Amino acid sequence: MIYTDTRDSSIKADFKTAVMGGMNQKTGGLYIPVEFPKLDKSLLNKDPAPSFRDVAFNMAKPYVEGEIPDGDLAAIIQDAYPFQPKIVPLDSVSYVMELFHGPTCAFKDFGARFMARVMSYFNRNEDTPLHILVATSGDTGSAVGSAFHGVSGLDVTILYPDGKISPLQEKQLSTFTGNVRALKVKGTFDDCQKLVKTAFTDTELRGKLRLSSANSINIARLLPQSFYYMYTALTVKNRCKIDNKILDPAIIMVVPSGNFGNLTSGLIAREMGAPIEGFTAATNTNKTIPDWIASGEYNARPSVETYANAMDVGAPSNYERIKAMYSLEEVRHLFASYWQDNDGIIKAIQECKDKTGYTIDPHGAIGFAAWENIKNGGMEALVNGQKNDPNKPGLTPSIPDWANKVINKEAVGVILETASPAKFGKIVTDATGHEPPMPARLEEVMRLPDRAIPMENDYNQFKDWLLANL
Ligand SMILES: *Cc1c(COP(=O)(O)O)cnc(C)c1O
Repeated sequence: MIYTDTRDSSIKADFKTAVMGGMNQKTGGLYIPVEFPKLDKSLLNKDPAPSFRDVAFNMAKPYVEGEIPDGDLAAIIQDAYPFQPKIVPLDSVSYVMELFHGPTCAFKDFGARFMARVMSYFNRNEDTPLHILVATSGDTGSAVGSAFHGVSGLDVTILYPDGKISPLQEKQLSTFTGNVRALKVKGTFDDCQKLVKTAFTDTELRGKLRLSSANSINIARLLPQSFYYMYTALTVKNRCKIDNKILDPAIIMVVPSGNFGNLTSGLIAREMGAPIEGFTAATNTNKTIPDWIASGEYNARPSVETYANAMDVGAPSNYERIKAMYSLEEVRHLFASYWQDNDGIIKAIQECKDKTGYTIDPHGAIGFAAWENIKNGGMEALVNGQKNDPNKPGLTPSIPDWANKVINKEAVGVILETASPAKFGKIVTDATGHEPPMPARLEEVMRLPDRAIPMENDYNQFKDWLLANL
């Protein structure tokens, strides 16, 4: 596969360059495949639907063609995914796609574990390790740390702001041994990011250590997230015959979004033939994308803190990829969008529990609220001319092509549950009165000793530490 650049379409790179580089340093653009080949009809039409790993292998294949042979790709998929998405029906036209059955209990495991194994593969003939530096405000660090832990040829240093992440998140970051370690920096997340960025531009350091990054803009994190959209869409399409007698359901993926990597992966799955009719972008108060869809103007802004904190992003980096793939008009045809504030998040967690018995986390809760609104008259009201105020929580005043399918009861919603409710125990308990059960792997990590290394917010100290310890 040839990869190009969101800022310069004359750029041509192979998969290895795109993965190992992360982004194009020269243009500042993001890598994107030049095409999204359709999945074979034999898989798209299979009933019962193909297994998750079959889908994953066949979707990944064209993107690594000529660079990773089939046998090695199959081994990467096998090793990356000892878990899979779980599809849970909420009511006759709503499903939850649970994406938290991986080691860190959030969807980022899907992308990070594939990326780690691909990087290890591309590093296999080098005699020195590749050093991954990651700054994290919480969730990304644990997914990356866990994904790279024990993977050969790779070495990970995670920087996080001391005292500014939750105790559970801290345990998930700081208890690794071996090739993964964490530095707790006396500073903010931005300070951590600055230390990492300075390291990347330090030619003296780069002369001594092979450095790379692992953030969410990497194409090797984005592509594998498309696997679960395809798998779920194919599975739900077949199930609908039994669950609700809708023979040709219009499947709407409802995606709690921050950086919009997850949603971009959904667009890739749709391009590859997944039976997905449209999307709902669900955000918290950081409503940069809903505002763009409503007004046509894109205004990145500083992020604000919310209960759905993994989505506290004011300048979503994958906007650039979405814009490279579609015009604003195309996005409006395909997307509904919705946002909710903290009060709305609490209400949604409560309402989900009361109506369906399902315990949902604060991120998935915004998706739940969005789909409830859409299917229970919110979309019909827009079609009938209601003018929603984009500055108030709720559905953005923009009507996607699939609006009538919802009104005619031909649509089903799939809400992506991006994290286990146990990761946000206090908020969920406050909302529902019940403490969500703690998965064994989270309980285990809480018992491990903390190994984080204290670090001043000082580049020279950081650099000396790297040179002395890596
Ligand atoms: C990262 C994250 C999100 C946001 O995903 P994007 O790809 O950045 O849009 C949503 N929910 C949870 C729990 C996350 O960790």
